[in-house]
Amino acid sequence: MESRIERIKKQLHNAKYKLTPQREATVSVLLEHEEDHLSAEDVYLLVKEKSPEIGLATVYRTLELLTELKVVDKINFGDGVSRFDLRQEGAAHFHHHLVCIECGAVDEIQEDLLGDVEQIVEDRWNFRIKDHRLTFHGICSRCSKGNEEKESE
Ligand SMILES: [Zn+2]
Ligand SMILES: [Zn+2]
Ligand SMILES: [Zn+2]
Repeated sequence: MESRIERIKKQLHNAKYKLTPQREATVSVLLEHEEDHLSAEDVYLLVKEKSPEIGLATVYRTLELLTELKVVDKINFGDGVSRFDLRQEGAAHFHHHLVCIECGAVDEIQEDLLGDVEQIVEDRWNFRIKDHRLTFHGICSRCSKGNEEKESE
């Protein structure tokens, strides 16, 4: 079976781009940190460990290109920092996020769950939905557990 990086390589190739060594280093950092939501600077520092010669501008351009090709999604959790998130392969819509207001953890929901809502919006507003961003802000299960323990002390 071909690897994810091979498939991304093909995607770039189909869009008439090459997977240069710098782009490849950037993609592999994103794959290694699939669970994380890295800023461009985070990606840059990690890529630099593999390819010390790489510049921040190259990493920025690669991330913009990957965003354009929908390999990654750019997301902002309200702190003014753009973060880059690998799109689940084959997913038509972007996954949802749970952002904990206590510890800052970001968890993901891969299921769309919005079928009914999307249908209502399409029917009532005659709006054809292509994608969406959904971020829930609240207290994660780890923090609620911690709070319960504190309260019972
Ligand atoms: Zn995510
Ligand atoms: Zn959806
Ligand atoms: Zn938390």
